[in-house]
Amino acid sequence: MEYIFKALPASKRVALVAHDNRKKAMIQWCLRHRSLLEKHSLLATGTTGGKIEETTGLKVEKLLSGPLGGDQQLGARIAEGRVDLLVFFWDPFEPMPHDPDVKALLRIAAVWNIPVACNSSSADMMIQSSLMERTFDREVPDYQNYLEQR
Ligand code: PGA
Repeated sequence: MEYIFKALPASKRVALVAHDNRKKAMIQWCLRHRSLLEKHSLLATGTTGGKIEETTGLKVEKLLSGPLGGDQQLGARIAEGRVDLLVFFWDPFEPMPHDPDVKALLRIAAVWNIPVACNSSSADMMIQSSLMERTFDREVPDYQNYLEQR
């Protein structure tokens, strides 16, 4: 597979997902960074998004609930180039029954080379990066070229 450079925009589309035991941590993280988050577009799996909206007043586009397909909707958005950054607080103490969804979401985020944070300290560093407010070139698979070579 060949790679090309594609810019992440200055205003980012930030995806937020938290498993049940990590929702409190996600809400605390969103409250802590509310003023930074409101500069970007937010989307989330259904329950995570609803709780963030309720507690922070931030506007969040809500997909289906994760177990009902929201994780896969999000994966599709990443593949379509419609998500720039993923904050994904999966639960390391209860990986089952989420394991296949966790793997699928982390895999597609790795394929499309979007920044991912799976815990609050990584997410703290990511959201406070100066690159959050600038365009940022990252390598992505050159799918057009891949098709032409087959
Ligand atoms: P939820 O989905 O935000 O709808 O709870 C998250 C998940 O369990 O993947």
